[in-house]
Amino acid sequence: MSTPLLPNFFAGRWQTGSCTGTPLFDPVLGTELVRVSNAGIDLAEGFAFAREQGGKALRAMSYGQRAAALAKIVEVLQAHRDAYYDIATANSGTVAKDSAVDIDGAIFTLGYYAKQGAALGDATLLLDGERIRMAKDPAFQTQHIQVPTQGVALFINAFNFPSWGLWEKAAPALLSGVPVIVKPATATAWLTQRMVKDVVDAGVLPAGALSVICGSSAGLMDQLQAFDVVSFTGSADTGKIIRSHRAVSEMSVRCNIEADSLNSALLAPSATADSQAFQLLVSEVVREMTVKSGQKCTAIRRIFVPRALYKAAALAIGAKLSKTTVGNPRSETVRMGALVSQEQKASVLAGLAQLQTEAQVLFDGNTSAFIDADANSACVAPVLLGTEQPMAARVLHAVEVFGPVSTLMPYDSIDEAYAMIRRGEGSLVCSVYSEDPAFTAQAAAELASSHGRVHAISPDVASLHSGHGNVMPMSLHGGPGRAGGGEELGGLRALNFYHRRTAVQGSVLALDQLAARGCKLPL
Ligand code: NAP
Repeated sequence: MSTPLLPNFFAGRWQTGSCTGTPLFDPVLGTELVRVSNAGIDLAEGFAFAREQGGKALRAMSYGQRAAALAKIVEVLQAHRDAYYDIATANSGTVAKDSAVDIDGAIFTLGYYAKQGAALGDATLLLDGERIRMAKDPAFQTQHIQVPTQGVALFINAFNFPSWGLWEKAAPALLSGVPVIVKPATATAWLTQRMVKDVVDAGVLPAGALSVICGSSAGLMDQLQAFDVVSFTGSADTGKIIRSHRAVSEMSVRCNIEADSLNSALLAPSATADSQAFQLLVSEVVREMTVKSGQKCTAIRRIFVPRALYKAAALAIGAKLSKTTVGNPRSETVRMGALVSQEQKASVLAGLAQLQTEAQVLFDGNTSAFIDADANSACVAPVLLGTEQPMAARVLHAVEVFGPVSTLMPYDSIDEAYAMIRRGEGSLVCSVYSEDPAFTAQAAAELASSHGRVHAISPDVASLHSGHGNVMPMSLHGGPGRAGGGEELGGLRALNFYHRRTAVQGSVLALDQLAARGCKLPL
């Protein structure tokens, strides 16, 4: 019996692809779940519909009205939460607390933007800074404004966050008044499709505001026009293809790229093996290696400790990892589920072999049997690697293994640690563990230029902090260089990507009229 072929919501109607489609699998049981296809669908029609109908309807609303629509989306998603958890268990192989990162993380982010957006009230444009005099006579001045771009926002998303990946982008886009077309990664497209279906069925957005197209990415970028934007999350290799597409290089389609990243954790030079800073680093490394089986773009891939603590850190991390039970997420005793697919398993095993050309295994959870899952499942247990010569390493600072894998490295001086962290060539996040605020401040200032976020942890925030890898809507997400050079979230800063900034030069009388339609972005 064949599995259901998921329809796409495109050009304001449900459309089923004209071929049998690509199957999506349960990574633990190996069973086929659903299929996706967009074969035969008229892409030009769908983009034009979103641009013309969706964009027009959204721009006719104020920020406050669009924020209210986001609040309604929150209600819709909350009402169907159980179904989303079932899909995540089946298709992503995640235990409930890992599914929560994706599902509840999305709902929280939407709720945050609903609240922030409500404060913008009746405004339909944003006032950017103060007026500036252009002549001796103050009657002629310039006011910078931001208005929503009159195009569509195309999201090409990664497999690891089918829910959060959609809504962390859609919340600021819809709040800005820009219609969304999402193309989820094929392996986990089901959850994205189902959430869009629930929101469409609830009728909380105008026609054309939200579309989903599953399956092949072929031809999507060709549809983009000058005022559209594209937000890509995925591998650096696909990012390169997006960035070099003629829509971006010739038509200046605005492009945001969130790519891979060799994030670091840094223990302060003054730490000791019995310090709280040491314990905080150990706990966070273990959490980051195991949450979503390490399939987080922000996960800690490299751990830097003072050389004197290398062995103590290896033992402490290994001891905690040994308590992580791995297997079928449906089993109550399992703490960590599977990777999302056999392809990811093969890629993680190949990456591990590559890292092992420069590092030794310090801990390997794969020596224990999986619970309620066999060796053919896509389960991979945590592996801690280490090298005592990290300055001589090349692969360890260059290869991202997208799974429960991290490498421990000692440093001899703090400048050496900073230099090695920067060999990641730009990362999403670095966490710093210290009991000395002066060192933390110095490290944050030093690491800021190569990271989108510095997560600075000390004992006084031990029970308060949001976690190295958790992306919170009020803080910036993205990173320079290899991480893609993109920026997302950061509170209402996220609206910048979906707006155009314009300098309006004119009489203060006209600028007064303009000001009456706008509000300042409270950053
Ligand atoms: P991927 O293979 O690059 O795929 C990402 C998306 O691009 C998928 O939707 C994919 O569709 C699509 N795609 C593939 N080829 C394309 C093309 N030629 N033109 C347009 N779209 C194309 O990445 P992934 O394996 O899904 O994700 C894992 C990577 O994402 C990791 O490296 C991770 O670090 C990174 N990531 C980064 C962030 C961040 O915020 N920085 C967040 C999550 C993940 P199909 O699935 O249909 O091939």
